[in-house]
Amino acid sequence: MTMNSGVYRHKKRFGQHFLIDLSVVDRMVQAIDPRPGQTLIEIGPGQGVLTRPLLQACGALRVVEIDRDLAGQLADRLGPLADGLEIINQDVLGYDFPGRELRVVGNLPYNISTPLLFHLFAHHDQIRDMHFMLQKEVVDRLVAVPQTKAYGRLSVMAQFHATLTELFDVPPEAFDPPPKVDSSIIRLVPRLMSESERALEAPLEQVTRVAFGQRRKTLRNALGAVLDETQIASAGIEPSARAETVSLAGFLRLAEVYAAQANLITD
Ligand code: SAM
Repeated sequence: MTMNSGVYRHKKRFGQHFLIDLSVVDRMVQAIDPRPGQTLIEIGPGQGVLTRPLLQACGALRVVEIDRDLAGQLADRLGPLADGLEIINQDVLGYDFPGRELRVVGNLPYNISTPLLFHLFAHHDQIRDMHFMLQKEVVDRLVAVPQTKAYGRLSVMAQFHATLTELFDVPPEAFDPPPKVDSSIIRLVPRLMSESERALEAPLEQVTRVAFGQRRKTLRNALGAVLDETQIASAGIEPSARAETVSLAGFLRLAEVYAAQANLITD
């Protein structure tokens, strides 16, 4: 079943592709399983196709929408359901996600998906789970394992922060206007971390940035500016290996060695 998205002219700069296939909306809502009393935040409600069933299920919802026109029309579109709606009209990249146990959902604007995921990872502690529609190619990169083309810095950082489950794919025809790419729904559940694991976040970011910045080079060459061959080997990693062969656990060991030597330098 499909729904016409009406007379609104979509704005390309905000990555607007409105879901019109209501069977996809149903599957997404089932996957989210919203319950009364939970704190749900929807990113980019657009014309409210997902907002409506979420409000019906839990009665209250916060939405963050950058487009002033859409944010202004949303309450009218939702009628009496809008009583439980809190509309925040701003760029989600500047939004601080106040609160705890947040359940964050959305059919995300694909043009900002990677910076948005990193922004959300920075609010890791406040979030219980996330369900997002993303470009399938981005979902493939998020869940990728070592020794594959899709495996990279995004895979390592996402898997450091969260347990990921790829749920189902969505074809371009499910949207108006249809995007050029396939889409996919993913669930991300932030991992509980010890203090010492959390402290590895910044060194892990730095090591993966350098290692994957030159992914065709051996680690000996790619990491040369930050870790020497002996240090790489001390993390149990073969210096002649390339970044794409190293698991999250391996990168965490490299991050530990890197953090230890950085401390030595500043002491
Ligand atoms: N949820 C709607 C749907 O499924 O039909 C709309 C999805 S559309 C792919 C992305 C939505 O995110 C649009 O409403 C767009 O205006 C909004 N958006 C784009 N960039 C944003 C940003 N930086 N902050 C908040 N909302 C944004």
